[in-house]
Amino acid sequence: MLRLLGIIVIVCSVLAMFSLADAQQRADGPRYFKNTTPYPALKPSVKKVPAKPVIVIDPGHGGKDPGAIGSKGTHEKVITLSAAKELRDMLVKSGKYQVIMTHTGKKYIDHETRLRIAREGGADLFISIHADSTSNKSARGASVYTLADRAKGRSKRIVNSQNWIMDVDLTEQTDPVGDILVDLAQRKTESQSEAFADKLIENLSSETRMIGNSHRRAGYFVLLAPDVPAVLLELGFISNAQDEKLLKTAAHRKKINRAVKRSIDEYFADLSR
Ligand SMILES: [Zn+2]
Repeated sequence: MLRLLGIIVIVCSVLAMFSLADAQQRADGPRYFKNTTPYPALKPSVKKVPAKPVIVIDPGHGGKDPGAIGSKGTHEKVITLSAAKELRDMLVKSGKYQVIMTHTGKKYIDHETRLRIAREGGADLFISIHADSTSNKSARGASVYTLADRAKGRSKRIVNSQNWIMDVDLTEQTDPVGDILVDLAQRKTESQSEAFADKLIENLSSETRMIGNSHRRAGYFVLLAPDVPAVLLELGFISNAQDEKLLKTAAHRKKINRAVKRSIDEYFADLSR
């Protein structure tokens, strides 16, 4: 009997010790616990990183297409690719832009693909880089092209043929409404392209020689996206021996690219006002 009593006392003391330890732990706060209910799912962070403007750089020609051949045999595609890559690096380094190249020279891509890359990449600005050529060997200087009025009908036909989705789904619209939407997009894009071209010419003028009447208009295919502000920059005349020599130097291309970068900065600063 005494032995039984002894056992009961020991059991009770052990239980008391456990409950004391338990109380101690509660007082200190739980050191660990087994989670029996799942945590509520975390909501995605509402803090938004402001989107950087997307600049699409299109090195003219490339791959099997050498472009114009210079008076000393330089291929246009070599100049345009170097200038495009250097501009890309300059823009990326600034941390202000997302940059997409339509190609990096490994193979030729057609003009439709260049436009598709711009639209699918959400381009805020498209810059196609070229070097001019003419039979007049004394012609020198840079120039900037935007889309000519006469090419706008062609732009509409491309929208329809490629089933491009504009702000409103054109496939759901009758043709006349679709045309109006393209017109509206085109008008806005045109004024933005013109605004950028003006800045570009102004900044280029302080860095490099320009041809007379340096803002030109043409129906180049790469300028035809109705909703992507776009310019085609002719860096200079590869058919002129002096321009060709200059365009082959990284220092000269850097001067031009600095003017392009400054124009891009000013353009987006104006847009955000
Ligand atoms: Zn070209």
